[in-house]
Amino acid sequence: MSPTESVPYTAESHRPPCGRFAPSPSGRMHLGNLYTALAAWLCAKSQGGTFLLRMEDLDSLRCPRSFADLILSDLEWLGLSWDNGTVPYQSERASIYTYYFDRLRQDGHLYPCFCSRAQLHVADAPHASDGRFVYAGTCRSLTPAEAAERARRRSPAWRLRLPAEDLTFTDGHYGPQRYNLATDWGDIIVRRSDGVFAYQLAVTIDDGLQGVSQVVRGGDLLSSAAPQLYLSRLLGFRPPSYLHLPLLVAPDGSRLAKREKACDTGFLRSLCDSPEPLLGYLAWLLGQLDKPEPLRAQELLPFFDAKKIPARDIVVPGDYWEKLQRKMG
Ligand code: GLU
Repeated sequence: MSPTESVPYTAESHRPPCGRFAPSPSGRMHLGNLYTALAAWLCAKSQGGTFLLRMEDLDSLRCPRSFADLILSDLEWLGLSWDNGTVPYQSERASIYTYYFDRLRQDGHLYPCFCSRAQLHVADAPHASDGRFVYAGTCRSLTPAEAAERARRRSPAWRLRLPAEDLTFTDGHYGPQRYNLATDWGDIIVRRSDGVFAYQLAVTIDDGLQGVSQVVRGGDLLSSAAPQLYLSRLLGFRPPSYLHLPLLVAPDGSRLAKREKACDTGFLRSLCDSPEPLLGYLAWLLGQLDKPEPLRAQELLPFFDAKKIPARDIVVPGDYWEKLQRKMG
């Protein structure tokens, strides 16, 4: 395929859709996670669809079960019910990822990379728009003999060959998107040198196997849809539709930090006897209410309209939680 030729992905209409929320339990959820969870739940449920929950705890050391348990409890408290009785934990799915990893490897899509962190730092070019590093391809053309020789000294990470191909898709919020896999992404790691599978591979396999047809998540993952769509094509899965949400930002434009107490679900729950004021606040941020007023998640369903989600990043007023407190007072 020539570098200029593009592969369009058209979201087929899956009615009713199968949505999901896939938090990484590396801490308790913060306001941004609650906002994403509510949006994903509303998108699926308002169309009569199903909603799945999945724990993305690939890095199990950073994701203790205690955080996952808090996520379950917080979502239950909010009334954002999920339809899969048993919640999958990525940390328990290594054998499934291994199966697909081996297939990709046998088909010649992967190669071992022996570059050290220091080497990567020197050789890789930052990608201008978001500062992400694009792998320079140093290990791409090692011969099998060279790779075997290096593997005696160092266990490799595994990378996916990404072609110089434009990939286009239409995001449900941000509209038409175009990414060049080679220049916007470069060969991504699908398995780390310590054996842990990488997010891009695991998320594509899970969405594919779990029948997810509608991915609603934070706008910081918009560009990730490109390698995920590519991988999903290689693995023969049906691609989902994507809707990326504008991010919640502080008044100075910076991202809401996880460590900010006012954004922590534990703190927010301690302010609220019931979830209604918080849900109303989140629905207002999502453009569904003119002003934050308490209501239940179910009550939002009849009038939820994804087109009302604000176009750009959403500024969370500095005094939002004080207002929340007043609402409840
Ligand atoms: N686990 C990711 C996160 O918590 C989300 C991944 C996804 O929705 O695709 O940021």
